[in-house]
Amino acid sequence: MEQLDRATIWPYDERGEPGPFYYSRYASPTVVEAEKRLGELEGGEAVLFPSGSGAATALVLSLLGPGDTIALAAGAYFGTGVTFQALAKWGLRYVEFDQTGPPPDGVQLVWLEAPSNPFLTMPDLESAIAHPARVVVDSTVATPVHLRPLEHGADFVLHSVTKYLGGHDDTLLGAVVGRDVDELRTFRTRTGISPAPDAAWLLLRGLKTLELRVKRQTETATDLAERLRAHPKVVTVRYPGIGGLISFDVADGAAARRVETSTRLVVNATSLGGVTSVMESRHRWEGDRVPTGLLRFSAGLEDPDALWADLAQALETA
Ligand code: PLP
Repeated sequence: MEQLDRATIWPYDERGEPGPFYYSRYASPTVVEAEKRLGELEGGEAVLFPSGSGAATALVLSLLGPGDTIALAAGAYFGTGVTFQALAKWGLRYVEFDQTGPPPDGVQLVWLEAPSNPFLTMPDLESAIAHPARVVVDSTVATPVHLRPLEHGADFVLHSVTKYLGGHDDTLLGAVVGRDVDELRTFRTRTGISPAPDAAWLLLRGLKTLELRVKRQTETATDLAERLRAHPKVVTVRYPGIGGLISFDVADGAAARRVETSTRLVVNATSLGGVTSVMESRHRWEGDRVPTGLLRFSAGLEDPDALWADLAQALETA
């Protein structure tokens, strides 16, 4: 069993020299162990951050400078655009593009999401890799169980570990995995965006069951997407065939509000990727970027028939 080491300092050796660990902002054993495991899963070297958004901030600040532009997949996690917008006063810009085709010219970083949340499009990785800019894939929803972007030529993979990798809705953590992360690691130490060992320990626990959980969540989501497609109250279903995330539309915002508040087993809450199924209307957060009737459903580990019975009774209110 891996140990949780909460120390912030470790003694120098008998000659007064620091060993691999001396001050936890630089490195700590539990964080290093979790990074090693995640790196193995993605086929690169992992660097952990206190949240997925913190990982995104650190990555773009370490790679780019004033005047640089990011091509961001349209319909990707809306918070990523919010993060980039917050950096605008330091001269960073972003433009949105359709990630199912090639990225625009004249950008210094391409940011894809596999699959996008909540529109669930898959990126055209081949076109993005052919672009001269470096390519980041936010693979939070796919997880390494379904996709290993570095093997396809991406430069960096980003995870909100808070979601599937943690898997239990009890830890906030982010990660960047790449082939060359030395500069990013140094940037993290110098800027102090270092993760807590407790969160890293929860990642280690989550990784033990990642494959089992994600396979089951994918089976459940595949089953439920099919049943939703056949339901008369459901207008559109988006599901790419991998992962546990589905989005679907009911008639309008009022219907979505009634459906999300009528479930008993499925929890009406935000986020995704945990062992408990959650569902929410995304319009409350994303405004007109999403249809008013859009509901996002994240499959947990409950019995699929029980989940369907719950969704079906809630859909009666639509
Ligand atoms: N990327 C995706 C796809 C997400 O869904 C989220 C959070 O919802 C993030 C990044 C941001 O991660 P965090 O909430 O851990 O900062």
